[in-house]
Amino acid sequence: MSLKAARHWVFDMDGTLTLAVHDFEAIKRALDIPLTADILHHLAALPADEAALKHAWLMEHERELALAARPAPGAIELVRTLRERGCRLGVLTRNAHCLALLTLQAIGLDDCFAVDDILGRDEVPPKPDPAGLLHLAARWQVAPEALVMVGDYRYDLECARAAGATSVLVNVPENPWPELTDHFVPDCHALQQAVHELAPA
Ligand SMILES: [Mg+2]
Repeated sequence: MSLKAARHWVFDMDGTLTLAVHDFEAIKRALDIPLTADILHHLAALPADEAALKHAWLMEHERELALAARPAPGAIELVRTLRERGCRLGVLTRNAHCLALLTLQAIGLDDCFAVDDILGRDEVPPKPDPAGLLHLAARWQVAPEALVMVGDYRYDLECARAAGATSVLVNVPENPWPELTDHFVPDCHALQQAVHELAPA
């Protein structure tokens, strides 16, 4: 779908709306998770006691990152432009819902998203599972094909593909996943330029 026609936008949070600060390798080392493993899947397979302890560590670590979050280049302008156009906006993150709220407050975008349109790892199965996008499409009463998913990692693109949504990759110097990408732009500033040319609703 053409980005100019899109009225329903879903954003990854960390590294997309914010500057990337998560050091996933350091997190894995701290939690004794193999470097090749997916953090959330690994924790889900652990005995309950151990999983709870490691989830608690992860939450505390991520809370500190949330409080120190900085907006990615162009992210504020892009989200505000879409909002002014009357677009529906959501966040789909593998972070926790409460930390997503904290992060959006820290960068000053919390007023742009309805709380129920912010989905974290406890509301829906984490990306690349398409459940979050399908949930938002149902909530907004549109086909999943009407959604645009903006992210900085392959999970965001795979999630979009699996849901039938349009995928947009931002904030990486080059595109390692062209087969998964519908639109590749350097950053949210460039995306905002494209959106700015939208005809008024
Ligand atoms: Mg990300």
